[in-house]
Amino acid sequence: MKQKTKETLYCPYCDFRSKQKAKMLKHIHFCQYNPENIRPCLSCNNNTPKMVAANVVLCIAGNRMTIKHNVELPYCTKNKIFIHTPIDAKKANIYKIEGEQNNEMPTKCRKYKLVDNTQI
Ligand SMILES: [Zn+2]
Repeated sequence: MKQKTKETLYCPYCDFRSKQKAKMLKHIHFCQYNPENIRPCLSCNNNTPKMVAANVVLCIAGNRMTIKHNVELPYCTKNKIFIHTPIDAKKANIYKIEGEQNNEMPTKCRKYKLVDNTQI
């Protein structure tokens, strides 16, 4: 009988597992349960999605072109800025909005307001 043992790697933050180290490292980097990726804005009452015309870069038949497209983005009503998650920052998946800021969600915020789920 031949017996082979394969190493399984587990994400320390969620149930994800893999036998490939590179795949696991990539997962941990982007894992939404990784404390590095968790920001107070994600559960803050001031984070209200807002529609805005953002610049979107498209690649059509090899030609890059920028168009304006209406998208709904997280918006901090207290700081009056658009905000994006650290995962979007890592993926460079950030919309550019003319005349507006689109900042990465801060690790700490003094204006944090807990979402009130008692009034449904
Ligand atoms: Zn994970």
